[in-house]
Amino acid sequence: MILVTGGAGFIGANFVLDWLAQSDEGIVNVDKLGYAANRQSLAALDGDSRHVFVHGDIADRALVTALLHEHRPRAMIHFAAESHVDRSIHDPSPFMESNIAGTFALLESVRDYWQNLSVEQQAAFRWMQVSTDEVYGALEPDAAAFTEMHPCLPNSPYAASKAAADHLVRAWHHTYGLPVLTTRCSNNFGPRQFPEKFIPLLILNALSGRSLPVYGDGLQVRDWLYVGDHCGAIRAVLASGEVGATYNIGAGQEKTNLEVVDTVCSLLDELQPRADGRSYRAQIEHVADRPGHDRRYAIDATLLRTELGWAPAVPFEGGLRNTVSWYLTNATWLQSATRDGYAAWMAQQYAGV
Ligand code: NAD
Repeated sequence: MILVTGGAGFIGANFVLDWLAQSDEGIVNVDKLGYAANRQSLAALDGDSRHVFVHGDIADRALVTALLHEHRPRAMIHFAAESHVDRSIHDPSPFMESNIAGTFALLESVRDYWQNLSVEQQAAFRWMQVSTDEVYGALEPDAAAFTEMHPCLPNSPYAASKAAADHLVRAWHHTYGLPVLTTRCSNNFGPRQFPEKFIPLLILNALSGRSLPVYGDGLQVRDWLYVGDHCGAIRAVLASGEVGATYNIGAGQEKTNLEVVDTVCSLLDELQPRADGRSYRAQIEHVADRPGHDRRYAIDATLLRTELGWAPAVPFEGGLRNTVSWYLTNATWLQSATRDGYAAWMAQQYAGV
């Protein structure tokens, strides 16, 4: 049995589905069902006894302790986090609560459980810290991609909260001996991503006739990875990563935001043409840049490739085609994701666009 946190969110849900498609080892999945979570992402597992979903907060030590003692997991994969940079700029508090205080509480619950395991079980246990390349800060246009040796120089409240969590995890390893593994992944895309993030936002806005917002000149560079490849990398690190090590995850697929918008528009023009026959590019609109916007991220995943033999399987264009097709055929999911406060947040975020 493994314990997953945040498994109703984008990457967590894809991970749970991927894991159970390849293994009969069960999952206990704790998620507080925040705004970015979607129970429909896990609907295919309804009635599947290998998946135990628990609605709860990682900071609830009584709940997490009870789950650990009931299910006795051999590993914990920690996805749960507040994850949207723009929201962290608008209101950093939930990021400090979930990403820092939540990780601290979870570490303490897991430490108590782990310290009472047998010596063999302690050695076999793994805490998997799912982190982001954003903890490294920004890269100059011609600089070499981030390696694991790059210092943490986070620039947004989100990135700072993730870096803080990574540091806590590192300290629990060095101080208490908790066997931890850390991964830092580049920007993910794929099915089931909440449509405030760039790619699903573009798809949703294009289809609903709204503008396609591009920050500033649109020349910010991100290194994109298909979510299924991220899940595979996490499985590889969990299976054979060296305890205490950090592994970067990325496919070396650097794209400017304008290139991403252009490819999304081409795919939509092909798969669901606009009624007036014009390209979706007509909806592109440049908006004021985000404060402190990092210009470029790029990940060097040589360690993961050479030591653990991982390689990404899905190229950017193919993954984007899968993603656009998934959103076109999952209207119910999209409707449920855009319920409640979605419209109000978008109106505030893109006021005047
Ligand atoms: P997401 O926002 O889609 O999902 C996060 C999930 O965590 C949600 O379901 C939410 O309800 C849950 N959650 C948040 N706080 C919680 C708490 N206190 N207790 C229980 N559940 C809580 O985010 P995502 O994009 O799936 O990212 C998952 C993880 O991967 C995060 O740690 C993120 O930092 C990391 N990551 C994301 C990317 C990316 O491109 N999306 C890249 C690298 C790393």
